[in-house]
Amino acid sequence: MSILPPPPERIDHLVEGMTLLDPSAEDGLLVVLPHPDDESFSSGGTMALASDAGVPVTYLCGTYGDMGRRMGSPFFATRESMRDVRERELAEACEILGARYELLGMRDRMVEFEDRREVAGRVREVIERLAPSTVITFYPGHAVHPDHDAMGLATKLAVEGLTKRKPQLLGVAVGDRQQLRALLGPPHVAVDIRSVRQRKLDALRAHRSQTEMMFLRWAKQLEEDEQTKAFRQEMLTVERFYRLNGVVGPSG
Ligand SMILES: [Zn+2]
Repeated sequence: MSILPPPPERIDHLVEGMTLLDPSAEDGLLVVLPHPDDESFSSGGTMALASDAGVPVTYLCGTYGDMGRRMGSPFFATRESMRDVRERELAEACEILGARYELLGMRDRMVEFEDRREVAGRVREVIERLAPSTVITFYPGHAVHPDHDAMGLATKLAVEGLTKRKPQLLGVAVGDRQQLRALLGPPHVAVDIRSVRQRKLDALRAHRSQTEMMFLRWAKQLEEDEQTKAFRQEMLTVERFYRLNGVVGPSG
């Protein structure tokens, strides 16, 4: 049974005031986030659209996600095996999205305690090596989880420290959309991912230690309120980002 809802015919109301980004026109896409599964949730559709057009897509993942709270239903992973489980899931999700991945190997839930200049330096090396036209990370200070904020900040510092051509830097904000809009205004950039929504769903499913419960609830229509349904429909319809180049925010 497919649980994929049909895509909405019109998306105007979801992208009002935003610039539509065509990932297939990029020279290279680099996604820098701390956990396996962050990439699929935030930008899986954008990654799939880019890779389908032959754009090199890389996910630079900060940690192994080995402190992930959910360990499958029924439990199929221990803390010790979690790291291997999550890397396998990550590999599968990236394969589905047409991306390669690299790991920075930081400790899960500890990214905020790392030396951010050092982390920024490592991210910068990857940007210099791959020379992407666009980099996606979390919007520092607006990404809910300390690891998310820290990774976003390190990536922002990495881009700011580039001496040659700087890529476009896009930030994913997480949280209540109305609150985010009140604080930051509407996102600047939107990607229409309707044509690859099944791929995004499959990539999310590949992260089964984290998403299995979500899919179970979804399939059984448990705990379904209108807000959850609308959130899911949007997640599979558009991906929205803030331009972070030149944004003054938290810094080193
Ligand atoms: Zn995360």
